[in-house]
Amino acid sequence: MSSIFTKIINGEIPSYKVAENDEFYAFLDINPNAKGHTLVVPKKEVNKLFDLEEDAYNSLMSYSRKIAIALEEAVPCKRIGMAVIGLEVPHVHVHLIPLQEMEDIQFNKKVKLEPQEFIKIAKAISNNL
Ligand code: AMP
Repeated sequence: MSSIFTKIINGEIPSYKVAENDEFYAFLDINPNAKGHTLVVPKKEVNKLFDLEEDAYNSLMSYSRKIAIALEEAVPCKRIGMAVIGLEVPHVHVHLIPLQEMEDIQFNKKVKLEPQEFIKIAKAISNNL
């Protein structure tokens, strides 16, 4: 069975898309730690980060870097934090999280955003790419 992220990539489930290329899809996390929390996902479904082939791993980091730079310009923050967890969705993804304080990376502090805000943030990041 396909992961929820594969369904998002295939357009079967909606998402607030930030960017995509042949290999990766970036979109806003629906339950963000902070405004602008973005996920970068390889289109090829692999469960664990370190199971990726080295080239795919390096490409994921490189693409995540591009998105992080655009994100940092779009959302006021001290810096962009990066985390890889995967306990909820077993399809590799990088969390990019605008940080103001340590709690923003801790996954127990969540912010509620309206659909219009998600759309606005996704566009703002995308426009910086
Ligand atoms: P984890 O697998 O623990 O790294 O967490 C998975 C992340 O995916 C969580 O931060 C969820 O909020 C996020 N997530 C789950 N379903 C969706 C969805 N349909 N759209 C956007 N983000 C999602």
